[in-house]
Amino acid sequence: MHEPFSTQLSLVRQLTFCAGHRLYRHESKCAFFHGHNYRVDIEVVAAGGGVEVDSVGRIVDFSLIKHRMLSWLDANWDHAFLIFEDDSNALAAIRMVEPTKYFVMPYNPTAENMARYLLEVVAPHVLADLGVVTRRVAVWETDESCAVATLTGDAGELRMALESAVLIDER
Ligand SMILES: [Zn+2]
Repeated sequence: MHEPFSTQLSLVRQLTFCAGHRLYRHESKCAFFHGHNYRVDIEVVAAGGGVEVDSVGRIVDFSLIKHRMLSWLDANWDHAFLIFEDDSNALAAIRMVEPTKYFVMPYNPTAENMARYLLEVVAPHVLADLGVVTRRVAVWETDESCAVATLTGDAGELRMALESAVLIDER
């Protein structure tokens, strides 16, 4: 028996920003303060899944994803230092600089954890009213290397994951 044929539409928007970080307890050079020209790929699907599109034939207009996500990235991560909340030494250092811009994360700011944060916390919050679900986020540290966070599970689990993510965002 074959599974019935079905199509899942999604769209992907690329975004770029610059940020500094260091990896707390990294065993070599990533423990030093340094920066990257990051690229982020955001993939969204219609909340109803499948081939659901609006009357124009879009899941959502690309410009809305760009505007919402880039506004958040510009305000929070662009030209900022991303620091793990347990990294008190880096926090003390960055607070000495004037002016300074930094963003404290609940885990080490690896590309993996940045992708996870964008998927679980940021995208559900800033894209909340667009009728889409962010399915996948890739964070590129270099042209060759990226980490990918993917939301899996059925619609019910997905809703629960999104609700808990929004709660986390209200810390
Ligand atoms: Zn790095």
